[in-house]
Amino acid sequence: ETFDDMIVKHKLSEVLVSNLLNQGYSEPTAIQKQAWPLMLQGREILGCAPTGSGKTAAFLVPILNQLGGPQRKGFRAVILAPTRELAKQTYRECTRLSEGLGLRVHIISNVNKAKEKFGPKSAKKFDVLVTTPNRLVFLLQEDDTPPIDLSNVEWLVVDESDRLFEGGARGFRDQLAAVYRACTGPNIRRALFSATFSHDVQHWCKLNLNNVAMVTV
Ligand code: AMP
Repeated sequence: ETFDDMIVKHKLSEVLVSNLLNQGYSEPTAIQKQAWPLMLQGREILGCAPTGSGKTAAFLVPILNQLGGPQRKGFRAVILAPTRELAKQTYRECTRLSEGLGLRVHIISNVNKAKEKFGPKSAKKFDVLVTTPNRLVFLLQEDDTPPIDLSNVEWLVVDESDRLFEGGARGFRDQLAAVYRACTGPNIRRALFSATFSHDVQHWCKLNLNNVAMVTV
């Protein structure tokens, strides 16, 4: 399937496709061919794909397509990455791929600044949040009224989930549960990406996801 097939069959936006072409991409990668149609239909997925396979665009493209444009409701997508460096890379790719859509993408790089940014007036400006779980959970635990409103989140992505679940430690499970509890919208969907189908990730998916589609390359 080409990008043009995706426009026709799966209603992928032409703006997104032109952004993909502007990146020099000529066709979807194997993981994108599998993940895009499923996520565009709103299926929750567990994607197993190594770094270098185009996995970041595999989850960003269908999410940006669904968000369409700015709505000034506050965050509608949250992407969790294991490290600051990975969060930065994902943030940059998100900014490039969303060009022309008018979406506002935010990365939490300083928790104290984030508190100011997400004040009652400004928080609604943003559509997409990229962060490490530590930073987000820190903000959520701040006060009785967390400075960050996740009640409009439609997609929660866990990138490199095998690294986050590593060692079976409870830490990340608790963090993910806290984030999910804060995402109180009616139609939240989750997508987990992982380099391997690690036991921890599969176990979590079995316990927490219904009818998850597994895709692997
Ligand atoms: P990732 O697996 O997300 O780390 O992506 C690895 C590299 O593949 C990144 O530099 C992307 O810019 C690039 N990439 C993503 N999608 C495509 C595509 N459809 N065709 C060619 N390169 C791509």
